[in-house]
Amino acid sequence: MELIEETPYRFRIDRHGEMRVPGVVFVSRTLLPHPDQDRSLDQVAQVATLPGIVSASYAMPDMHWGYGFPIGGVAATDVHADGVVSPGGVGFDISCGVRLLAADLDRHEFARVCDQVMNGLDRAIPRGVGRGAVWSLSGSDELDRVLRGGARYAVAQGHGVQRDLDRCEDGGAVADADPTQVSQRAVERGLGQVGSLGSGNHFLEVQAVEEVYDDQVASAFGLRPGQVCVMIHCGSRGLGHQICTDHVRVMEKAMTRYGIHVPDRQLACAPVSSPEAQAYLGAMAAAANYARANRQVLGEAAAAVFRAATGCGLDLVYDISHNLAKIEEHEVGGERRTLCVHRKGATRALPPGHRALPADLSAAGQPVLIPGSMGTASYVLAGVPGGGAFHSTCHGAGRVQSRHQAAKTVRANNLLRELGQQGIAVRGASRRGLVEEAPVAYKDVSEVVATAEGAGLCRTIARLRPLGVVKG
Ligand code: 5GP
Ligand code: MN
Ligand code: MN
Repeated sequence: MELIEETPYRFRIDRHGEMRVPGVVFVSRTLLPHPDQDRSLDQVAQVATLPGIVSASYAMPDMHWGYGFPIGGVAATDVHADGVVSPGGVGFDISCGVRLLAADLDRHEFARVCDQVMNGLDRAIPRGVGRGAVWSLSGSDELDRVLRGGARYAVAQGHGVQRDLDRCEDGGAVADADPTQVSQRAVERGLGQVGSLGSGNHFLEVQAVEEVYDDQVASAFGLRPGQVCVMIHCGSRGLGHQICTDHVRVMEKAMTRYGIHVPDRQLACAPVSSPEAQAYLGAMAAAANYARANRQVLGEAAAAVFRAATGCGLDLVYDISHNLAKIEEHEVGGERRTLCVHRKGATRALPPGHRALPADLSAAGQPVLIPGSMGTASYVLAGVPGGGAFHSTCHGAGRVQSRHQAAKTVRANNLLRELGQQGIAVRGASRRGLVEEAPVAYKDVSEVVATAEGAGLCRTIARLRPLGVVKG
């Protein structure tokens, strides 16, 4: 496959075979996946064969191999031109995302209470496999209300304040959730997990703002140099996973009926207007609300720990998911079109002035939250005018090593010692989880972010450094 270097931050894969549009990959030469180790460039080309796809099949600088679609993949299909939705373009952890909260506390003040806060978080934040949850729901009727109302329902039940909804994507809940499309098995898996991190890659991290690149925007976001923050990364747990599994199975069968041919079964899909797609989108929206409620109550639990130790709580900076399909209006070729935008391991990045932004963020643009790794920096970015890939950018550093590879090469004791030397307090659920997520398993987040900015997808607002990490 030929890659054409268009700029130092953008490569093109011209149409070949059954591709309907070209591939556009926002990477630098050093971030280009090595074809012997990672087939994600092939996946970009395969996604380009999906019915109704418009403009291009995109990949972000943190791209790596994923189920069907690459992680870091963005693809939009035209809803009114037989465009499809593909669960593989959302991923198994539906609406996995990042929530950033800010404390009215300086990092030097935190140093005095670090042990107390970290021990408090260690006790308060359920994680790992089957270890309980912050919120015990009364039963499946209440789960139904979570699936419809997301963080709005959590706040209505006393778990948070209005700001939590103003600063959450979609005001805390997406419309069109259809819990009747969520299987009994998914409900069973979801019932006891609202307010839990889950495994490995998911975390709650105490961070400090190490550098601010734009004072005005950082201050609109609620961030200042030296400030202590909490970053939470988690998704829809077993419920989302089960929904993806259930609906992929349905779509694999439906595809033949709709005469759709895809080069990889993992790209199973159905026309957005079909009953199968509508069922998936309804269940997916329910999982998206579950994930928002999950991050809401985890944020509340972390705030309680901070309040007990320091007297000050946590204010929401923003909450944004990076695994979701959304029906959005975009101008393509001078025409307004209704698109189903898949972002999988990619973050929406709305430009300043966009009508979906809350009033106090309108001039600044949407906050984009980019975790790096437990031993390196994380970033806060903002959407820019124009943008690219339907207002999307990266979602993290992105893996260079599989979990298995990392577990083979990294020793837990060495890792813990190195993190300790950097002043990073670690509360892990398991040694295995820690080594699988070691910083060496990830790309250089600073280069990923610089590439995303160089490609015109976003701009850098602040860099955060870890002080303590609670790992799934
Ligand atoms: P994913 O959603 O693809 O599982 O993960 C998103 C990103 O989170 C990864 O690409 C990686 O850069 C980042 N990440 C994983 N573990 C940690 C952690 O413990 N701390 C921070 N800050 N980032 C992490
Ligand atoms: Mn996830
Ligand atoms: Mn994630």
